[in-house]
Amino acid sequence: MPGRLQHRAALVTGAGSGIGLETSLLFAQEGANVLLVDVNLAAAEKAASIIAERFPGIKAAAFKADVAKEQDIKAAVDKTVELFGRLDVMFNNAGIMHPEDDNALNTEERIWDLTMQINVKGVWWGCKYAILAMRNNPIDEAKGLHAGGSIVNTASFVAVMGAATPQLAYTASKGAVLAMTRELAMVHAREGIRINAICPGPLKTPLLMDFLNTQEKRDRRLVHLPMGRFGEAVEVAKGALFLASDDSSYVTGTDFMVDGGLSSCYVTPL
Ligand code: NAD
Repeated sequence: MPGRLQHRAALVTGAGSGIGLETSLLFAQEGANVLLVDVNLAAAEKAASIIAERFPGIKAAAFKADVAKEQDIKAAVDKTVELFGRLDVMFNNAGIMHPEDDNALNTEERIWDLTMQINVKGVWWGCKYAILAMRNNPIDEAKGLHAGGSIVNTASFVAVMGAATPQLAYTASKGAVLAMTRELAMVHAREGIRINAICPGPLKTPLLMDFLNTQEKRDRRLVHLPMGRFGEAVEVAKGALFLASDDSSYVTGTDFMVDGGLSSCYVTPL
């Protein structure tokens, strides 16, 4: 069976940990060459070495970039095209949840600005340079390579639900990702560029577990989860693969929930 991303080139931001790491591995398993972008170069290099070991035919390279800097994102996209000749899949996934992010009264402006810079502007720039690159993708029908590409932006369930355990800047930033994704999807729909948002529920990754650093904090959330557990990064990676591949060829502008039913829930089972 050919992989679902065979002959494709993908760029993943935040590839050194959590969702980005698991998605990079899955993309490689499905045949894609992958540029692993992270502000933490050592983590991205480790991810690249795992791919080299597990999937010998696949090209994977680590690239240091801060998505909060436009020139870094441009350089990462340029590198993908230089190494792999094209960019078919852009996964704008890197994001932060700052420990000092709180409610409207306590959140400092510098925390708000930092969160927006990474979580919103980083996604905007990722979309901008991916769109420019995808317009130039060579078409090769024999290899199933068509015009355009797929952009997946990581938002969050908090973009569609309110929580009395606030992280206001983060929540606002993820709402912005959803709105931006929808509009971009409409603007570029006739170019063969699909743009979707994926909304993970609470996951067992460093991002959330560092934030929920006591059992009491974790229990405060667990009672609201229909499945009674946090999600795994690989469960979101499988959703990202669907949106990245032609399996989702008629899906664009969507808020794709991978949240264990959380956003559909009123009362959880006993
Ligand atoms: P993680 O902390 O495990 O991994 C994030 C990676 O992004 C790290 O390797 C980090 O070095 C990198 N990174 C951070 N800032 C960066 C920057 N400015 N430029 C480049 N790389 C940067 O996090 P995760 O849980 O895998 O989260 C990934 C995405 O999923 C984030 O956008 C997050 O908001 C979102 N999300 C996570 C959860 C959850 O519960 N973990 C839930 C909903 C949404």
